[in-house]
Amino acid sequence: MSERKVLIFDTTLRDGEKVPGLILSVNEKVRIAKQLVKLGVDVLEVGFPGASEGEFEAAKEIVNNVSGPKLVCLARPTSKKDFEAAWKILDNSENKGLHTFVPASDAYREHFLKKSREEVLKVGEQAIGYAKKYTEEVEFSLVDTWRADPGHVVNLVQMAVDAGATSINFADTVGYATPREVSSLIERTREEVKGIGEVTLSIHCHNDLGLAVANSLAAIEKGVTQVHCTVNGIGERAGNTALEEIVMILETRKDIYGCSTSINLEEIYPTCRSVSQITGLLIPPGKPIVGPNAFVYETIVPQVADVKEKPPYEVIDPDKLGIKKEPELLKKDATKEELGHKLEELGLSLNPEELDRAYEAFKELAERKETIFDADIESLVVEEILKVPARYKLLYLSVSAGSISVPNATVQMEVDGQVIQDAAFGRGPVDATFKTIQKIVRRKPKLTRYLVNAITAGTDALGEVVVGLQEDDLVVMGRGIDSDVVMASAKAFVNGLNKMELYREAPPISEFTEEEVFAPIL
Ligand code: MN
Repeated sequence: MSERKVLIFDTTLRDGEKVPGLILSVNEKVRIAKQLVKLGVDVLEVGFPGASEGEFEAAKEIVNNVSGPKLVCLARPTSKKDFEAAWKILDNSENKGLHTFVPASDAYREHFLKKSREEVLKVGEQAIGYAKKYTEEVEFSLVDTWRADPGHVVNLVQMAVDAGATSINFADTVGYATPREVSSLIERTREEVKGIGEVTLSIHCHNDLGLAVANSLAAIEKGVTQVHCTVNGIGERAGNTALEEIVMILETRKDIYGCSTSINLEEIYPTCRSVSQITGLLIPPGKPIVGPNAFVYETIVPQVADVKEKPPYEVIDPDKLGIKKEPELLKKDATKEELGHKLEELGLSLNPEELDRAYEAFKELAERKETIFDADIESLVVEEILKVPARYKLLYLSVSAGSISVPNATVQMEVDGQVIQDAAFGRGPVDATFKTIQKIVRRKPKLTRYLVNAITAGTDALGEVVVGLQEDDLVVMGRGIDSDVVMASAKAFVNGLNKMELYREAPPISEFTEEEVFAPIL
């Protein structure tokens, strides 16, 4: 049986980024994009440049920094400006395409587009026309496919094939489909649409019912050859199809699916880890393929077993994914080159200037900490090198707390280049610290989330704090790392404030007209 190639369309940076509170800086996005290229994705959706000035700049910067995969931008069907903006970014790259969409279900159509089914067919045709002015490579998505009338889906796909789309993507936008429904609709479309053999068929699933991966597989079984996915399955609500899961199912069960992908398996683990580090979204312990417990067994191994032999219960070889069971730890007196190698291994390649800064931070950590784990190094780099441009800087923190005294904090910060110091009491050292920072910045965001996590074992471990901050409608996550948990909390709070600034600085390119509003998009 010859193997069928399944294309991996990565949308971590477009759809995946829609995790509530997650805002990635340009630098962070570029970092993730570079790692996705190493991973070997076939298509890389770099963003939705029409959405805002910030999105435009980020997508441009990504495109300027990566090559290899087909680079794709999303454009709203009714907005010529979106296509223009997307093409401004993509024009000079070798391998590129445009991605547009229309609502398929009546619910979406009526709510977001306020047009009849016939009119939507026209909108789609016109959108593909806009895209084809720039490129032959046009992906056309049907939004909310599985709550749509299947007859209308067939009509939409026929229109898209006739209009010249080269790829048709069925999106289960709301995570509603079941595998059997996916199979039957794709089967029906393939039977009824003329010329469908000429286009790439694609699937985009959400995980609201935990079926994103299963639905994507059902589509592959029916001949779909491209899967949209995100690293660690991150995305809005319950997230998207997890890249690492779909790839490893196809790899592990070749006997069933007969499919291959172009993914470099040994980059899976470094990619998942670095995306988790950069986004601050922790990988749950039991997460398939890359969770911290994914290859940890409680089984009592009989003494007679040869320990060198591959255990009979392991269907996936973790070595193949780039998971090192006993990673070689970096010595405290490691050279800059050794640190560089280690970072490569961890999916965090740095440029020389960044490596210099990382090395300085590493030496400082080595003085304070007994054993330096890989996770310590990852955190350090994310903290020291990838920080968002800062309006607020934390310069100094001193807290006193205990069972008798009233906890109080003294904080010194730089705000717009000016040094300000203040102090406040609180119910605990963290509360006192947050209150002081709020006094200094004269802002009072609501604390919606506060998480503390020890990155590695031991009492000198680095503590990671994630805070959720809310001001009006804006919710962001801030992250801070330090061997002192109160300091990590302060850093997280300040990081959150800076992220809010980043978000506010990026107004939309143009106000969305009523016609153009599609949220959630696909
Ligand atoms: Mn989506």
